[in-house]
Formats: sequence, C-alpha cells, structure tokens
Amino acid sequence: MSEPSGSAQALSPRGDEAETAGLVVSNLSVHYGGVRAVNSVSFTVGAGQCVGIIGANGAGKTSTLKALMGLVPRRAETIRFGEVDLTKVRPNDVVRHGIGYVPEGRHVFPGLSVEKNLLLGAYVRPWKGSTRDTLTEVFTLFPMLADMRHRLAGALSGGQQQMLAVGRALMSNPKLILLDEPSMGLSPKLIDDILTVLQKLSAAGHALLLVEQNAKLTFEATATCLVMENGEVAMTGTATDLKTDHRVRQIYLGL
Ligand code: ATP
Repeated sequence: MSEPSGSAQALSPRGDEAETAGLVVSNLSVHYGGVRAVNSVSFTVGAGQCVGIIGANGAGKTSTLKALMGLVPRRAETIRFGEVDLTKVRPNDVVRHGIGYVPEGRHVFPGLSVEKNLLLGAYVRPWKGSTRDTLTEVFTLFPMLADMRHRLAGALSGGQQQMLAVGRALMSNPKLILLDEPSMGLSPKLIDDILTVLQKLSAAGHALLLVEQNAKLTFEATATCLVMENGEVAMTGTATDLKTDHRVRQIYLGL
C-alpha cells in the first residue's frame, strides 16, 4: 500500500461548529441480557481533541462506541455532542450531527467499487456542500484510493480496506470520528500508515475517539487516554503519563 499523503486541511470540520462541538458522556452503561459490558463510564472529547480508549479483549471498548452511535441498548445520564442530546437521536441520524464511525472489521461493501463505497458515506450529509468536492478531498488524503477508485472493495488488502473505511467516514465531513481498532490485523508498516492518517485528521481539526488494543499506537495518536477493564474505566491520564505507568507498561505495552 502506498504511503498516505496529501493534506487533510480541506476536510476540516465546518467553520465555528468545530470550536463548539464536544462529546460529553456520563454514566454510560451497556448490558446484553445478563452480560454487563459497560458499567457507568464517563469521559469527554473536546472539540478537535484526540482521546484513546485502550483495553484487552472484552473490556467493553466496542460496546462503548456502539452505544454512542445508538447501535446497542444503553443507559446514560448524559451523551451530548455540542448542543445535541444524543440519547434522543435515532442511530441513523447520529451522522447528521457530525459524528463519523469507522467500525471494527471495516465493513466495506466488497461487491462495490472503492468510489461507490465512498459515495455511500455521503448518503447522509448534514450540509449542502458538493459530494464530488469531498470525494476529491478524500482522494487527496488517500491517493491510493484514487488510483483504485474503480476496483472492487473486496479485492483490496486489509490495510487498503481500512483506509477505505476511514475515507468513507470522512465523506460525511464529521467533526468527531469514532474509530474501532483500525490497526487490527495490520502489519507494523500499515499501522504506521494508520498513525500518519490519524495525525493528519487531527491536524485538520477533527476530534478523534480511538478504541484500540494497540496501546503503543494509541499513545502516539492521542493526547488523553482511558484504560478500560471489565467494562469500567480503570485509569485515565495523558498519553505521556500512562505510557510511563508501571502497570500500563507491563500489561498493555508488554515491557
Ligand atoms: P474486543 O477488543 O475483543 O473487540 P471490546 O473491549 O471491544 O473487546 P466488547 O466487544 O465491547 O469488548 O465486549 C464487552 C463484553 O460484552 C464482552 O464480555 C463480550 O463478550 C460481551 N458482548 C459483546 N457483544 C455482545 C452481544 N451482542 N451479546 C452478548 N454479549 C456481548
């Protein structure tokens, strides 16, 4: 896969909304029948801020993101994005409020071309800008996707599909992007490419909420992190502090 390149500047969140939008989550819980997946989790993601959630298998990371998108039954005191009370927003309307979602496992449409996959991401557009302009901006950020625009998504490598999934989320011009384990199954070189993309998105003013088992990537890509264990927030801190914490080094960095 080619190196991600180009500028994400044109993909910056729109105008003053970027300064005011922020995610506030308090006492979020998710249960699947008798299984308690997330228990009273609280955190914030400020406008343009990059926040990471690390944790082992089954810690509740994916359930947290799905709960924010309204994709699983949830209870919460607050899920607010800017002025919008997301507890009252239907799942298919969350994107309209400026939140993009890159699900675990990418979920691209294998029988559709790269370009058609991207255009599907623009299906719900919260503003009236040109879809073609946004497509051009995504191709600027991911020249590799431009080169493969007519290829079937199912013929792409795992890393290329991951870039496509991120590109598709960008097509709705989100202020905040939720990313679920974008490094999963990728080689170290491709994980470096993901880091480069995340840094570009951040530099362009997008807020990111990155869920990962890869603590090293998360500490490089985000400023603030939560450690989730058994559905609860076990630790929070700056990436700088957490990566020097003895327990984090042992359990999550294998040092
Ligand atoms: P991973 O890194 O493996 O994706 P995770 O931290 O994202 O793990 P979740 O997928 O949120 O964790 O799972 C949290 C808990 O909820 C686990 O015990 C899991 O088995 C359980 N769980 C997740 N989805 C369901 C479901 N649909 N039905 C029942 N239990 C579920």
